[in-house]
Amino acid sequence: MHERETTIVIFGATGDLARRLLLPALSQLCAARALPDTVRIVLYARRSYTLEQYLQEAEAEQRRQGQSLDGWERFCQRFVAYVQGGLDEAGVCQLQPYTQGNALFYLALPPGVFATASQLLAHAGLHDETHGFRRLILEKPFGYDLESAQTLDRQVRTHWREEQIFRIDHYLGKETVQNILVFRFANLLLEPLWNRNYVEHVQITAAESSGLEGRASYYDQAGALRDMIQNHLIQLFTLTAMEPPSSLVYDDLRTEKVKVLKSVRPIPRSAVNAFAVRAQYTAGTIGETRVRGYLEEEGIPHDSTTETYAAVKFYVDNWRWRGVPFYLRTGKRLAADRSEIAVQFKTPPLHLFRETPLDRLEPNWCIFEMKPAEAIYLMAQAKRVGLELTPRTIVLRAPYREAGQDGFDAYTTLLLDALEGNRQHFLRFDEVEWAWRVLDPILKAWQSDANPLPTYPAGSEGPPEAVRILDSEQHHWRPLKP
Ligand code: NDP
Repeated sequence: MHERETTIVIFGATGDLARRLLLPALSQLCAARALPDTVRIVLYARRSYTLEQYLQEAEAEQRRQGQSLDGWERFCQRFVAYVQGGLDEAGVCQLQPYTQGNALFYLALPPGVFATASQLLAHAGLHDETHGFRRLILEKPFGYDLESAQTLDRQVRTHWREEQIFRIDHYLGKETVQNILVFRFANLLLEPLWNRNYVEHVQITAAESSGLEGRASYYDQAGALRDMIQNHLIQLFTLTAMEPPSSLVYDDLRTEKVKVLKSVRPIPRSAVNAFAVRAQYTAGTIGETRVRGYLEEEGIPHDSTTETYAAVKFYVDNWRWRGVPFYLRTGKRLAADRSEIAVQFKTPPLHLFRETPLDRLEPNWCIFEMKPAEAIYLMAQAKRVGLELTPRTIVLRAPYREAGQDGFDAYTTLLLDALEGNRQHFLRFDEVEWAWRVLDPILKAWQSDANPLPTYPAGSEGPPEAVRILDSEQHHWRPLKP
């Protein structure tokens, strides 16, 4: 039987996401011969371009990123058209002839127009699955608070079924993130220790040394809590804290993640300061380079109170985790690029080593590192070689991708999943909704807080106020710069 064609339609094809991330991801799939032969690509945007011009620029971008151009010619043959049009009925109806079989609509558009675009597609009949599947990929952020996320969901779901909607969080396509599942549940080693009897606390970090990278207007509306914690860091948190799902098919994984969010102890608005810290960067030095403060950045109002650093503490009030703090932090213009999940175990009973230097042992850590390299570490104690019984920390490090080593990009994996209809690594609406629910008291308290915002110099480890949310004097933020 003749296989049905699948058309990927990229809305917002002239944007940063489409050019810098989606096209390279698709070309990578094509080069790896993982993009099914039946897949065609249509570009949709409001600027005037010919397909040839667009692909020339895409090739230049591929070169600029240092990506391989092997098979580029073959990849170009997948493009059927560049359709020029706005977000109106006449524009979107132009897509009908290109989408006769299966279709995947990727909304690489500003979040403010997700609802309009999804409605226009439906009005043009393009959501109708009579002649093949119809899927809608929505980018983050999904809403800017609980209420707006619920409104957006209602608008999109007026026409589209939940099964057709793929809410992307590209962290879920990253190797290390998917490996948390494998490492936690395919080994006997860790899972027996993965609970409040053995874990002291957990730190989840996504630190960036970069600044706004041309996205000032978006970032100033969003801030660090919405930009990183509400989606990426909460995903890392739920994968770390969840119970083993009963299967990796259907919705079991997502159900377990939602259960974690439902068990998070609600943060009282009156006590937000004990659970969350925010700050903004001032001028400083990153490496050898002097950089501006946030308020001097192009496109940022001089009196902006948007946070560029956020740290929060969660307690998961269930049998496994009660009493164990989970600390999440993220920020821009920090000392280093570091993303990791770090689990600190409790200190073992040390009576055996009383009155020896081993009396003050460092606790064990298990670290899933995503940046700078992709690796798993176990930090353990061993005896230093020599006559004395002195300890040293040894690091058992298992890299599975070094910095710079080739591998599949997160978008590559997720695009393939969306083509195959695998929704496991996309967000179900209740996940998004619960993530907002958990953070809403913090957002509300910050909105009405008239106190001056704490600051930190660019290139530093973050604001000194970040220690405020740590539960014990024994807890320390792990240094970003080793
Ligand atoms: P850009 O602003 O670079 O591009 C947006 C695209 O949408 C452009 O093609 C733009 O067209 C088009 N567009 C903007 N406004 C309208 C409108 N009113 N009607 C029709 N088309 C419009 O944004 P990004 O590519 O950076 O982001 C796209 C989405 O992806 C956003 O939701 C963002 O939050 C999300 N995202 C982006 C990431 C990134 O690294 N860029 C990372 C993660 C998520 P034109 O060129 O004509 O202005």
